[in-house]
Amino acid sequence: VPHGTRNPIGWGFVEEAATDKERRRLARALQAFLGIELSDERRPPPPEAVALPAPRIAAPPHLSGLVHAGHTDRLLRATGRSYANLAHIRSGRLEHAPDLVATPTSEDELERVLEWAHKSGVAAIPFGGGSSVVGGVDPLVPDGFAGVMTLDLQGICEVHEVSTVDRTVTAGAGILGPDLDRALAPHGLTMRHYPQSYLHSTLGGWVATRSAGHYATHLVKIEDRVEAMRVLLPDGRRIDTLRVPASSVGPDPNRLWAGSEGALGIITQVTARAVPTPKHRQVSSVHFARFDRGLEAMRDIVQAGLQPSHLRLLDPYEQAVSAAMSGGRVHAGSTLILGFEAAELDVAPAMAAALRIASAHGGSTEAAAPESSAASWRSTFFRTPYLRDAMLDWAVVAETFETAVPWSRAAGAYASIRDATLEAVLAVCGTGGVLARTTHAYPDGISLYFTYYGRGRHGALAEQAGEIKAAASAAVVAAGGTISHHHAMGRDHKRWAAKDVPAPYQEAIRAAKRSLDPSGILNPGLWWCPG
Ligand SMILES: Cc1cc2nc3c(=O)[nH]c(=O)nc-3n(C[C@H](O)[C@H](O)[C@H](O)COP(=O)(O)OP(=O)(O)OC[C@H]3O[C@@H](n4cnc5c(N)ncnc54)[C@H](O)[C@@H]3O)c2cc1C
Repeated sequence: VPHGTRNPIGWGFVEEAATDKERRRLARALQAFLGIELSDERRPPPPEAVALPAPRIAAPPHLSGLVHAGHTDRLLRATGRSYANLAHIRSGRLEHAPDLVATPTSEDELERVLEWAHKSGVAAIPFGGGSSVVGGVDPLVPDGFAGVMTLDLQGICEVHEVSTVDRTVTAGAGILGPDLDRALAPHGLTMRHYPQSYLHSTLGGWVATRSAGHYATHLVKIEDRVEAMRVLLPDGRRIDTLRVPASSVGPDPNRLWAGSEGALGIITQVTARAVPTPKHRQVSSVHFARFDRGLEAMRDIVQAGLQPSHLRLLDPYEQAVSAAMSGGRVHAGSTLILGFEAAELDVAPAMAAALRIASAHGGSTEAAAPESSAASWRSTFFRTPYLRDAMLDWAVVAETFETAVPWSRAAGAYASIRDATLEAVLAVCGTGGVLARTTHAYPDGISLYFTYYGRGRHGALAEQAGEIKAAASAAVVAAGGTISHHHAMGRDHKRWAAKDVPAPYQEAIRAAKRSLDPSGILNPGLWWCPG
């Protein structure tokens, strides 16, 4: 069901673009933060003016109606939605675009399309919401293919079953986050998986990238929510993994396809573990003079066995900018947003225990936030990506990246990654800043999330963002972090991934690809694919 007009040159739906009021508030915060006037505003070219390379192949007659070559069809799926992707679109010319776009609405239609690609040497790129920020859907494939076809899977979105006994939902992989939750709501269930891209990303895309929602602890990664899945291979083989809560029969097949980013098969259906809709909520904020004291408090909270829904420590810079954006109070030091949610149990005892731990680490608690604050935070969270389009208008270079490290290295990694990124921002942009927060916490470690802003130059924004990204990625690797806790590998992280995926393991996955995708057409160009 379309809920809006998908924006071929920006984030989300055209109808939901940033309002003038949101743009003014953002401009004020950025001007204060960057110390510059945002005067040189340039709107993007109209979609029809963005030049694409001519299609190299045509769809065969038996696929007419299923496969399209129109300009908007191709532009919409020509890149993901990283800052650099959007900056490229604004240059008015894309060097790469899919030659064709398929829009199957059933597994059988998908199989017909895939069979043709398999026989014709056409690379096939699965596409869910297209919200990849790592080049996962970019049609950059090695030489040797007749062309590239992007497979938009949003039409494969049927909800097949909601089991209130097993607390699972079985749905087509192309279903968008809100549609999945709409199907679960009448049963008192929810996926409770809210990546910031929730409104515009799909169940299959989440699984294919091992995404994480905004909750900080307990079942935060989608791979922990997969009970079973169906995978379609280019030669027509269909694989259904067994629906069981757990198993010990060899390496887990669900884990082979979770994170496979479209290169080992197309996930067409997922049986996912749902959870009861929370009814009880409490949120507090705790202030710490120093970021590392906040980290220590967080570690004790999760290692005590408490599982807060919100456990987000904002560093002093993030704290100041988010307060400026929301009109809240700016504190010196770091702020920990602490929250608990539960369907049945009272959350007050857990909150009291967590606050006691925070206070023992020097945290001072503000009056508890109203219950509604979590919902209003979430709606701001979902609006933020629309503001990136405004930043591009003002030539502000702005991007996020994330990692995870064990607790023992957390404070050091935060400092070294922040310093290296700031140095790169200042070298590339002259003026700018870096903000950081924690996003997910585990008993053994933490995920750190960085945002940087810099004063860019129209015409050079993608290159500037790329230079900063390279310096930040090198710092992440040097700090011993994963190159991605939840944004995936894609094409962009390939060269930074050697420690995440040791060489013999890469070879084993390549062998699996040869077996599952003998013609090598599925999303070629990822790390485990030749070329
Ligand atoms: C503004 C913004 C905020 C974001 N916030 C978060 C966040 O909070 N947490 C997070 O984890 N990520 C986040 N992301 C990244 C992105 O949204 C996730 O990676 C998401 O899981 C991608 O889902 P999608 O449906 O859009 O997949 P796509 O972007 O369409 O595809 C991603 C990859 O998966 C493959 N793929 C897609 N569907 C299938 C399928 N059915 N079978 C096989 N392969 C498939 C594609 O080929 C590609 O390699 C964000 C991105 C943006 C732009």
